Amino acid sequence: MKSWIEISSARLAENFRAVQAVAGHGVEALAVIKANAYGHGATICAPVLVEAGAQWLGVSDVAEGAVVRAALPHSGIRVLVMCGMELADAPALVAHGLTPVVWTPEHVAVLERAARSAGHRIQVHLEVDTGMGRQGAAPGEDLARTLEALAGSRWVSCEGIMTHLCCSESAGAEITEEQRERFALALDQALAAGVRLEFVHLANTSAVDEGSTMAWIRDTAKSLGARAMVRTGFAIYGHCLEIEGNIHAGALAPKVSPVLCWKTRIIGLRDVAAGVTVGYGATFVAVQPMRLALLPVGYADGYRRAASSGVGDGWVMIAGQRAPVVGRVSMNLTVVDVSGLADIQEGMEAVLLGEGVTAEDQARWSGTIAYDILCGIRANFELR
Ligand SMILES: *Cc1c(COP(=O)(O)O)cnc(C)c1O
Repeated sequence: MKSWIEISSARLAENFRAVQAVAGHGVEALAVIKANAYGHGATICAPVLVEAGAQWLGVSDVAEGAVVRAALPHSGIRVLVMCGMELADAPALVAHGLTPVVWTPEHVAVLERAARSAGHRIQVHLEVDTGMGRQGAAPGEDLARTLEALAGSRWVSCEGIMTHLCCSESAGAEITEEQRERFALALDQALAAGVRLEFVHLANTSAVDEGSTMAWIRDTAKSLGARAMVRTGFAIYGHCLEIEGNIHAGALAPKVSPVLCWKTRIIGLRDVAAGVTVGYGATFVAVQPMRLALLPVGYADGYRRAASSGVGDGWVMIAGQRAPVVGRVSMNLTVVDVSGLADIQEGMEAVLLGEGVTAEDQARWSGTIAYDILCGIRANFELR
């Protein structure tokens, strides 16, 4: 095995319970497991999260939903399909007992037909566009058309209304306030159209961590006789973005810890003389004798090329010590410097991401965010 991922089920469960605790009593915590659970393995994480008390899981599309259903055949877990649908997906969404997020009359129409022919009603959640600008019905005429379609349907009922925040990691962002105001308008509009809401939701990890929107959604849900839901992914896996403009630490960040460790093994060791070059482009030249270790991972495995020396200057951890990347990361191989390290042998484990080298470190090398790093890992999974 070239590289593998170890998942701590205990930490995953602890993180989920931390989200529940910070979100507050009576708030439904949906665990987002889209994109193969942010690279952590959806079929590995889903049963752990259900065992920890999750009643809802969030996926991106019908295919991911079907995988989760197959992994948890008798659990009765609710699965929200959050990233839109193709109209042709409707029969499969119904067949797998998934709960789609909808925002157009066409979504409602195809689901109505699919549910009628399957002979059972389905629930949907209605998405409102309050400022993300990607998806959702805008409050006003756009939303009215979809509400009308819902009111006229016998087989589709609207169980929840949601929106998505675009700047929840900025404390006191003006746009977040505007999004809340537009969401409140949409809720009024839905109630006036006769929708009986069970769930209202807008908070992701950063909103739960930052806190002000949480208080607002709890109060809003209460005033409507509905329940607030949060949709958290990043925190479940032990990560939070830094909250901008907040002098206090987030409420959630100190309570979660990473659950993933990505490892490989040293498959070669060599001593090189001064003047030897290493890797494509001969970008690295040894200025003194060195001991180098060869690792069987590269950018084909999601180990980013930006970890190359002279670019992001990445490192791996071997026996608890930093071993810097030497030369360019290639497709399937990476070389690291173990010159200063004691007792290094072929076959030893090297930690690519985990204790001593975080997803945030790797994101910095690559000029991206930790979400992107985690989703990009391609390795096998082991549950610990
Ligand atoms: C991915 C996603 C989330 C989860 O966001 P995190 O920052 O990982 O908590 C929540 N809501 C929607 C609609 C999403 O697509």
